[in-house]
Amino acid sequence: MTKEQSRSVQLNLRSYAKINLSLDVTGVRDDGYHLLETVMQQVSLYDDIGIRWEPDSCGELKITVTNSKPYLPVDSRNLAYKAALVMAEQAESLIGKRPRGVLKIHIEKRIPVAAGLGGGSGNAAAMVIGLNRLWEMKIDTPGLCAIGTLLGADVPFCILTQNSRYTCALGTGIGEVLTPVKPGMKKHIVLAKPAFGVSTKEVFREIDRFPSSERPDTQELIKGLKQGDMDRVYPNMINILENYTLKCYPEVQTLKDRMSAAGDAEKVLMSGSGPTVMAIYNNYGSARRACLEIRRHGYEAYWAHTGKEIRGERNDKL
Ligand code: ATP
Repeated sequence: MTKEQSRSVQLNLRSYAKINLSLDVTGVRDDGYHLLETVMQQVSLYDDIGIRWEPDSCGELKITVTNSKPYLPVDSRNLAYKAALVMAEQAESLIGKRPRGVLKIHIEKRIPVAAGLGGGSGNAAAMVIGLNRLWEMKIDTPGLCAIGTLLGADVPFCILTQNSRYTCALGTGIGEVLTPVKPGMKKHIVLAKPAFGVSTKEVFREIDRFPSSERPDTQELIKGLKQGDMDRVYPNMINILENYTLKCYPEVQTLKDRMSAAGDAEKVLMSGSGPTVMAIYNNYGSARRACLEIRRHGYEAYWAHTGKEIRGERNDKL
């Protein structure tokens, strides 16, 4: 073993899912991207990201990705791989040297894919945070969030919440201009999805043809979160993307109805562009019971809570 190989380092990170407590479209940018006003909340469902760095000053940068889902790409189409490339470029421009060596990324996937839960964005965020540490780049959280915009609109939120104590933020612009909301929501939740994904691109391409009669009062929602006043929060938990996804994918409407009927949910809403539907509960027992009931209907479902700390047993293998 060479001296450099003996300096290889391993970092294990958690990459959390997010939900949208509200989502409103406020306009369209010249490049076609929709302008959003969305309150995003981190939830405790997470992927494990293992990063192993074996420096080798004689070699090039070599990246390998392995993951627990055979259908996910392991090349430069994988968001974690992309994030590593972006961080290598940043390192080169910051310290004048491209990192050389072997970077091994392993993703243990639990967050459902193409589900409106920001799973890929969270993986990219974990890589940005991890490589900032491993390559000793010393970039602060706002700087990392700025790098995150190169990788996707949801990546800055995932960086902010994975690299600070914040769990909730208002996203404007295309979702990347963040204003932290403190405290965020403190509730138990169930996340459930039908057996298909929905493309975020497709939903935004079509949403203008499905105008919404009901829109959230985002400021009222934020005030409610700050004061812990759910009477101000729940009526403003509106996701205008439901207008497209629920109409074009009736199975998502059926799931929403089943989740409303399954227990004593305080609110049921689709997250992001769907098809994941979330239900909010006051306590762990209610969330767990409702989750098991939804699974009996054949859906992929998880109970979790808002925020980072892990509480209760892991439920992804049940
Ligand atoms: P968002 O809510 O940010 O729009 P999403 O939850 O709807 O995201 P993702 O799970 O991030 O969607 O997956 C979107 C696409 O990205 C999928 O088609 C998937 O193949 C691709 N992808 C690339 N890398 C990853 C990754 N590491 N994890 C999940 N999906 C990935």
